[in-house]
Amino acid sequence: MPLTKYEEKLLKEFSLAYSASGYEKNVSHLFKEHISQYCDEIIYDNLGSIYGIKKSKAAHPLKVMVCAHSDEVALKVTEICANGLIKFSATSIWNQILMGQRVTLINSKNELFKGAICATPIHLLTAEQKKSPIEVKNMFADFGFLDKEDALQHFVSINNAIFVDGTFEILNKNRILAKALDDRIGCALLVEVIKSLKNVALPYDLYLGLNVQEEVGLRGATTASQMIQPDFAIVVDCSPANDLMGKQEMGQLGKGILLRVVDGNMIAFPQLIDYQKKLCNQYHIPYQYFISNGGTDAGAIHQSNQGVLTLTSCICARNIHSNSSIMDVNDYLANLKFLKVLLKTFTPQKFDTLVKAGR
Ligand SMILES: [Zn+2]
Repeated sequence: MPLTKYEEKLLKEFSLAYSASGYEKNVSHLFKEHISQYCDEIIYDNLGSIYGIKKSKAAHPLKVMVCAHSDEVALKVTEICANGLIKFSATSIWNQILMGQRVTLINSKNELFKGAICATPIHLLTAEQKKSPIEVKNMFADFGFLDKEDALQHFVSINNAIFVDGTFEILNKNRILAKALDDRIGCALLVEVIKSLKNVALPYDLYLGLNVQEEVGLRGATTASQMIQPDFAIVVDCSPANDLMGKQEMGQLGKGILLRVVDGNMIAFPQLIDYQKKLCNQYHIPYQYFISNGGTDAGAIHQSNQGVLTLTSCICARNIHSNSSIMDVNDYLANLKFLKVLLKTFTPQKFDTLVKAGR
């Protein structure tokens, strides 16, 4: 089933927005624009994580936190060279995707500059040099500045973010190719979810929002969960697909939402995996098991306070942490259906059962 025009537009808008770790205002503002009308209140933690609250009429309501992350992997300016070229660091982007890419720099006044990544061309390399990838320290970004003074006059500064650009494309109606699908998929899904709950009275307080700085160590999730003190949490994220080498691999495009049983910073609550599986079977939502060395914001949230029952609701995409990530449209719709079903059927009684099942 293809995305509706609205779904496509929303995902495109979030994917094309620039939002590096520590500089998430663009996506935060966009999110606020979309969710405000469906929320009773908007709150922030002091790092910049944003949450919309939809309150229940219950006397002592449970708090349910549903979140995605607003940051994306990006490059950082480390040096402005005398000839106006820019040197950069690339901590979470693989250097092999960088050569010749179109990039955008955001200066200290939030102005955009288009450019490209350059290195010594193949014609000038020795046979030996051609055998290994070019290291980031030997790459430059060219934004057309004539010299260092020119760059400084345009308010370019150390630590400004540089983004590897990518257009938003629909591949043969089945797949979406775009930058930053990790985790703009989550941002767009959250908007769709809160919209779908417009006329629904929930038996709990819903805190729906975006954490900052996930990519550098789950920092916004840590502070946001301390602020909210949730009873139950759901993390929506995009995980790396691992299906290029054959059908036996975990994380296949088009095979549904991921049951992340274990990853680098959380062992899934067994009773929540059972619950997730039951809902999927009941509502005909495709799912697949997933094991990862990486992690999600769930890693921080489930360890906050006295421990929080935390469920992940993720899908996978190829080439994440590059400007050419590819996701399957049906996986996206499966996750949307799962989140709607989960939030519309969740009750305090269900929560009690899940807590007791862990004892
Ligand atoms: Zn992510």
